[in-house]
Amino acid sequence: MDGAPLGAAAGTAMTPMMAQYHAIRQKAGDALLFYRMGDFYELFFDDAVAASAALDITLTRRGKKDGEDIPMCGVPFHAAETYLARLIRKGFSVAICEQTESPAEAKKRGAKSVVDRDIVRVVTPGTLTEETLLDARTHNHLAALAMLPNGGALAAVDVSTGDVFVQSVAASAAADAVAALAPAELLVAEGGPTDALLAAKPDLRLSSVHKSYFDTKGAATRLAEAYDAATTDGFGQFEPEHLAALGAVLSYLTLTQIDALPRLKPPQLLRDGGTMAIDAATRRSLELTQATDGGRQGSLVGAIDRTRTASGARLLARWLGAPLTDVAAINDRLDAVSFFVDHPGLKEKGRADLAAAPDLARALSRLGLGRGGPRDLAALRDALGAARDLAARLMEHQSAISLPTLLAGAAADLEARTAGGFAALKDHLTRALGDDLPLLARDGGFLATGYNAALDEVRSLKTNARQVIAALEEEYRQETGIKALKIKHSKVLGYTVEVTAAHADSMLSAPLNQTFRHRQTLANAVRFTTPTLAELDSKIVRAGDEALALELELFQALVDEVLERHADLCACADALALIDVTAALAHLASEEKYVRPRIDSTKTFNIDQGRHPVVEMTTRKQGGNAFIPNSCRLGDGDVTALHLVTGPNMAGKSTFLRQNALLAILAQAGSYVPAAAAHIGVVDRLFSRVGASDDIARGRSTFMVEMVETAAILNQATANSLVILDEVGRGTSTFDGLSIAWAALEYLHDRTLCRGLFATHYHELTKLSARLSRVRNVSMAVREWRGDVVFLHEVREGAADRSYGIAVAKLAGLPKPVIARANIVLKGLEEKQDRTGGSAALPLFESAPAEAPTHPVVETLNDLDPNELSPREALDFLYMLKKMADEPDDE
Ligand code: ATP
Repeated sequence: MDGAPLGAAAGTAMTPMMAQYHAIRQKAGDALLFYRMGDFYELFFDDAVAASAALDITLTRRGKKDGEDIPMCGVPFHAAETYLARLIRKGFSVAICEQTESPAEAKKRGAKSVVDRDIVRVVTPGTLTEETLLDARTHNHLAALAMLPNGGALAAVDVSTGDVFVQSVAASAAADAVAALAPAELLVAEGGPTDALLAAKPDLRLSSVHKSYFDTKGAATRLAEAYDAATTDGFGQFEPEHLAALGAVLSYLTLTQIDALPRLKPPQLLRDGGTMAIDAATRRSLELTQATDGGRQGSLVGAIDRTRTASGARLLARWLGAPLTDVAAINDRLDAVSFFVDHPGLKEKGRADLAAAPDLARALSRLGLGRGGPRDLAALRDALGAARDLAARLMEHQSAISLPTLLAGAAADLEARTAGGFAALKDHLTRALGDDLPLLARDGGFLATGYNAALDEVRSLKTNARQVIAALEEEYRQETGIKALKIKHSKVLGYTVEVTAAHADSMLSAPLNQTFRHRQTLANAVRFTTPTLAELDSKIVRAGDEALALELELFQALVDEVLERHADLCACADALALIDVTAALAHLASEEKYVRPRIDSTKTFNIDQGRHPVVEMTTRKQGGNAFIPNSCRLGDGDVTALHLVTGPNMAGKSTFLRQNALLAILAQAGSYVPAAAAHIGVVDRLFSRVGASDDIARGRSTFMVEMVETAAILNQATANSLVILDEVGRGTSTFDGLSIAWAALEYLHDRTLCRGLFATHYHELTKLSARLSRVRNVSMAVREWRGDVVFLHEVREGAADRSYGIAVAKLAGLPKPVIARANIVLKGLEEKQDRTGGSAALPLFESAPAEAPTHPVVETLNDLDPNELSPREALDFLYMLKKMADEPDDE
């Protein structure tokens, strides 16, 4: 039936296959339809045009509709995952339509029947589970945002690990919460506003769903059904908005996963205020999990990740993305890290165990969804082996010294808190699985010999039959006298007797034609069959089918046994991740000389000799000078301070500002910090801004973005917040910018009373310290040497006197005449400022100074060190001076 024409000529009725295709196409909605035909998934009409362009594969035709050719393209079934990955990355969703009966069954139903087909799964970015489609070290969240009149909520599921959580979000904070989660796919109700979401995360993949998905009434039932529970009361106190968001996610899973709903862990309700609030702009500016270019490298997590497992890497990113605010919870994490710092031998051995542990969470999720294969069972076996070794090591210490709370809990989870732990399951898997494992169970041959007697017997039937064939071949050689006679196997004909063309005649005549019946004539060979051979052939085929059926049955029994322990295995996977992260942070601390921060609920911020975690590693890798540590004291007990950082461009102001924000994040995430000592009173909100950052893509002017962001800080920061502002007010005229920066600083000083660091080139601002008691000036030290500036990267008390912008421009390679001219203009401006009394009345650049003190040629010569020039450069320089001298002076 699959060879039937898809379309119909103009004016004729639709073929049955076309009618079936259209019915299924309708169900697929916006997704591309992968329509299974034999060994291919075929795409037709617009789907074919879109997919062939996206995949760069040939667009062909098959049949006609209304006289027009029907466009078609296809991908081989066995290579489908690769094509799927490319389509998903390009923003498509794909509905997979499979044959749901065999051609023989279709034939039985009636000669004209098309093989029944249906959509078995819709593959979307947020519902992936395949290893090849996922980034191992990143969570893959499907999220839903419910905005009800009385409140909003964001729910998220990682289908590939079974994690589910939900949190309340105010309308104004929704975009930041979404940006923080960075979901692979976000569900929103049709027609709802999405501008703010896309502004916070421009690459966000949005899927609009009917608003009935967010219906609160049905949600509780859906949730109870998904967990096979009578009510949802056992999960915690959910508000209607939590249920709406969770319900939307579950409905979408039902729609896309059809009847293979993933096994999910119970939904976690994330408490308000339990984590440090970090808005989207701050996340971007601090490059927490993504560097500016979108990659992991260059980000904080990229620099400090020393985890050994993919699930550890995912947990680390989660910790850094949501630092805690509860002092006890932070110290619990730090205690676990300290334990590994103090026991380096155990840490090393544990990390070696972890390196052998495959991704238990993802293998488990695939098995739960019915998409798992023999390799997932092997992953489970190996992870359980690593878990057992790790548990034994930790337990050994438990008796000698007590383990910190988190590690004691994790050690118990590794052993499933039951007598015998996972030993029986692990042993069973070890006995069952062979050495050479196919990806898919249906390829067979993965169960070990000796595991199941019935399977061994059917398999031996198959092997014996082969021996019988070898004997038969010899017998036929004797009977025919043809030495070159062979029994061969082909996919289409099965086993046949093959002789060369020269022997065909004797085989086709009596008496041999009594036994040998002709099947096929090839260019150089002729093939025959015999009743004995035909019977043997079907016996072998039957034995193969029987072996596979039995193997699949045994596979399913193993999967069922695994899934019976689902909850325990999830806890074991979580424990492995936790141990990995804490051991990795300990490893980082030892390797990079980080210290344990002291955390409390004061407003203290006292960093002794802090370093920037990313810049420090990058400069070392690039073989640059050693990173210069700098201290920072922004608060002591209840008293907070604001620091104004001045100094030349390129002197390290931005680095200093960011390093202090990153230290607060690291500390509250539970990590040691790059410093000689650190004492941090918990930061409730962190704001980090770089003035005048570009946002052309989002259609907002540079200055507008800066002001919107400054407004957010002034409106939201509290006395417990940390504010980092890098060059506020830079994107407008000097007076306007200075005035705004001035007023904003006064506001934070007088009303907000937060801790803050401000870098500025407005030297006038430094005068504020005389009036505002909590404002202190610090500056980046530089040394001048032969007219050049040398950066010392050292933060010192007091304000800088100038910005050395021209010196930096010179370092950047601006043409010498421009540098010379800029120096002249600057000198003139400074003289004018002195004459007018200076202070806040900055000279405006309305005109260049009336008298140029020296001719540009003379200035350029003053700037020159002849010893540095080669003879050729000296000659070039001479020509340049001549050209400058010839040019009319534009004064
Ligand atoms: P601008 O005012 O032009 O924005 P800046 O003062 O903010 O400049 P940064 O961008 O922080 O300067 O630093 C410039 C470079 O100096 C960094 O890329 C880094 O390589 C180096 N640097 C900064 N701080 C240090 C330090 N403490 N030790 C060593 N190198 C440093």
